[in-house]
Amino acid sequence: PFGVLIIGGGPAGASAAIYTARKGIRTGIVAERFGGQLNDTMAIENYPSVSHTEGPRMAADLEAHVRSYGVEVVLGQHAAKLVPAEQPGGYHRVELASGATLQGRTVIIATGARWRTMGCTGEEDYRNKGVTFCPHCDGPLFKGKRVAVIGGGNSGIEAAIDLAGIVGHVTVVEFLDQLRADDVLVDKLASLPNTEVRLGRRTTAVVGDGAKVTGLTTEPREGGDAESIDLDGVFVQIGLLPNAEWVKGTLEVSDRGEIVVDERCVTSVPGVFAAGDVTVIPFKQITIASGTGATAALSAFDYLIRTPAP
Ligand code: FAD
Repeated sequence: PFGVLIIGGGPAGASAAIYTARKGIRTGIVAERFGGQLNDTMAIENYPSVSHTEGPRMAADLEAHVRSYGVEVVLGQHAAKLVPAEQPGGYHRVELASGATLQGRTVIIATGARWRTMGCTGEEDYRNKGVTFCPHCDGPLFKGKRVAVIGGGNSGIEAAIDLAGIVGHVTVVEFLDQLRADDVLVDKLASLPNTEVRLGRRTTAVVGDGAKVTGLTTEPREGGDAESIDLDGVFVQIGLLPNAEWVKGTLEVSDRGEIVVDERCVTSVPGVFAAGDVTVIPFKQITIASGTGATAALSAFDYLIRTPAP
């Protein structure tokens, strides 16, 4: 059994492991794949002190750093159920889909999130070749160019406002007949001269020249003539889904399905902590996930020294 059992090997889980291992606590990490979303990212240029790296390289660097402390790393495993300790200070159990069970006096959940995709032709072919999810990460790659934002909710309109300051022109494509974002954001967008909104349209294809995106095809939701837009980038902003389905009913989650934590990353179950994209903590970024992983680790340490075993 572990002192700290961490579920998830992305930036949040890795950072948590480094902190608890350095406290001398027996630490285990279980993850489907080390690095999490980093593996799907090409350039990373906003992690302080690292002016440029690539996602798979950062994932490998993180794994090497974690292993250098003797953390037990179990990969290729899917956590399926959390069974909280029956008494304070007792062992929590995590059941894996493989049938195995692991135990920890504390558990840190850092299972991250996944982006909802459009599911249209060309989207996967041009992922990271113009199709992207992250305006904070990839906006500067489209300086002066034409881009589209798919989705007119808060994240879509925030992305469009952010991008309008960097790129040449932004077209927002929304499936419904009105934008779902807050009025203040919609008004701000309307005040920006290099933006345009296309309502009631479904994106049917991302088109490109084989190497990169050159345009987008949309059609009216109710059917009608397709329309093509020439552009260089497509930012998909139709939702981020937290990987928290497996703890619903055991831990408190928000109406968006994110694990509810306080500023110390404490969940609704004593001895269980959560960090990174799977939580209600706003702004899904590597530096934030890493920081909250450290917070969760220090909170777990605090719990262990204050809570005697039953
Ligand atoms: P994740 O990275 O999602 O890691 C989750 C971990 O949990 C993985 O190890 C996964 O295998 C594991 N896991 C999930 N479910 C289970 C389960 N049931 N059982 C076992 N293991 C499980 N941020 C930036 O700051 N800069 C960027 O340039 C940047 N670019 C990005 C580009 C793309 C394409 C994407 C998708 C994201 C980008 N981000 C960027 C966001 C950043 O990657 C995330 O905020 C960060 O990875 C979140 O870290 P995390 O540890 O919370 O979760």
